[in-house]
Parts: sequence; C-alpha cells; structure tokens
Amino acid sequence: MSEEAPAALSGVDVPAVRTALIEWYEADHRDYPWRQTENPYEILVSEVMSQQTQLDRVVDAWEDFLSRWPTVEDLAAADRADVVGFWTGHSLGYNNRAKYLHEAAEQVVSDYDGEFPEDPDELSELMGVGPYTANAVASFAFNNGDAVVDTNVKRVLYRAFDVDDDDSAFERAARELMPAGESRVWNNAIMELGGVACEKTPSCDAAGCPWREFCHAYETGDFTAPDVPTQPDFEGSRRQFRGRVVRVLGEHDELSLDELGPRIRVDYAPDGEYGREWLRGLLDDLADDGIVQVREQGGTTLATLEQ
Ligand code: SF4
Repeated sequence: MSEEAPAALSGVDVPAVRTALIEWYEADHRDYPWRQTENPYEILVSEVMSQQTQLDRVVDAWEDFLSRWPTVEDLAAADRADVVGFWTGHSLGYNNRAKYLHEAAEQVVSDYDGEFPEDPDELSELMGVGPYTANAVASFAFNNGDAVVDTNVKRVLYRAFDVDDDDSAFERAARELMPAGESRVWNNAIMELGGVACEKTPSCDAAGCPWREFCHAYETGDFTAPDVPTQPDFEGSRRQFRGRVVRVLGEHDELSLDELGPRIRVDYAPDGEYGREWLRGLLDDLADDGIVQVREQGGTTLATLEQ
C-alpha cells in the first residue's frame, strides 16, 4: 500500500479485491441494453430515466424514447411538449426531468456541435445533469469517470471494508479501490454488487459475492450499514448462516456446537447472543429440512450433514 492509502483500506488486498469483483461482474451481470452502448446520448437518457424508476421498467421506456428520438439532434429538434408527454405517458416521474433532458440536448447541439463533452465537470454543466449523472456518463460512455459513490456503493464499502460512515472516507476508499482508467467496468461492477448481492438484505452466498473472503460484515455477521441501521431482515441473515453451516459441515465429519460456532461467525460465544442457543436453533431448522443431523452424546450436541 502507498503512504497515501486511506486508513479505511489499510490491510486490504486491493489488487485481489479488484480482480475478484471484475471477474464476477464479467462472468454474469444483468444485461440492460444501455450496458451495451457507449453512446453518451443513449446513456444519459438511461441515467435520467433510472433516477426515479426501477431499472426493469426503464427498459421499454428507453427503447421507445430512442426509437422516437434516436439522436441528440432529434431530441433537440423535438417539441418540448412532446417530450414531456412521453415522460408522463411512460410514468417516468417528475416532468422536470424531461424538460431538462430536452434542454441538455439543445445545449449539446448548440454549444458542443452535437458532440458530448467527455469530462465529468463539463458534463455537469448540462441542464439537469448533477455530479452523479455526469460521472456515470463519463464512465460508461467515455471510460473517463471517477469512482461512483452512491448509497449502494457506501453500503458495500461500509460492510466489506468497515469504512467509516463519513462521506470523505467513502470517497477516499472508493477512489483507492477503482483501478486507474477502468471506470466503465469498475463502476458498473460495484453498482451491480450493491444491486444484486449487497442489497439492504444481502445475499452473500446466494449471489456468489466475490468479496466474501475479504468482507468484514461476512466475517462478523453484522450486516448493518448507514442505510440499514438495524440488522437486516432476520431471515436474510439467517439464510447466510444456514449456508455457512452447510459449507463448514461439508468439510468435517461431525462437529460440536463450540467447534462449529466459531467457524460460522467470529463473534460466536457459547453463552452470548450468538452462542449455543442461537446455533442450536439454526441446526434444528436445518434438521427439520432434512439437511443436517443433530445428536446428543454425553451432554454435547453434535452436528453432521445428512448423508
Ligand atoms: S459478502 Fe455479503 S455483506 Fe460482504 S460485500 Fe458481499 S454481499 Fe455485501
């Protein structure tokens, strides 16, 4: 690590963390059509639409919009009332966004001769384009952005690397993690991680999170985050631990509660909140589901995988 490395990431194997995430993203990700284009106009439209609408619902609207106004010149030449009418007709949220998008298209045509600027600062001069959108367009269209830090990314950084709940700490950590010159793939990948694995209720094992081996929350079982102030949905975290019990028992013939517990969570304490009683409950559920066998021997509870 360099001397300038933020304390938040000290001890983190940054190259391994980067490789794991990019490989995970490239192996499989949600295939939204705007991820297949590097056209800044098409990307800007997708970003503005996504601000208030779920991504799955944006797909049809985005395709309709682009077949009606295929280029920034077409949009700039449109009647504003038609653009606003389209917005309302597709339930895309505040009409102001349609007005701003139209105005931004006019700016690109009149001030930039139809060529989008490539720099986040210049992009944010466009009407209705805030720093987040400017950076997204710079990243996805031109591979020229900074590390994105939105709510999802903060949640991931907080859980994975125990970064302080502080905007400047998040920004330093995010910048440090992003490989230089790879904002397109990196920002897509970390946002995908926050969107499909490290959601408010995380699905670390089910989503095959590539950061499990590095992740502080995965190690401790504490999945709270700045936007998740209390332990998320009990069933969600319980599912994680069920998965871990099965994996650990798969590596051993038979384990007692106190042998199994510390391998499931580092804060296991026999008489603590996450102790024998908690683990026994988990094992009983797994036994009911026919996955695990539990037996008593000389006052000790032993667990093994059902053969
Ligand atoms: S292991 Fe779980 S908590 Fe940690 S980053 Fe992955 S999904 Fe989030």
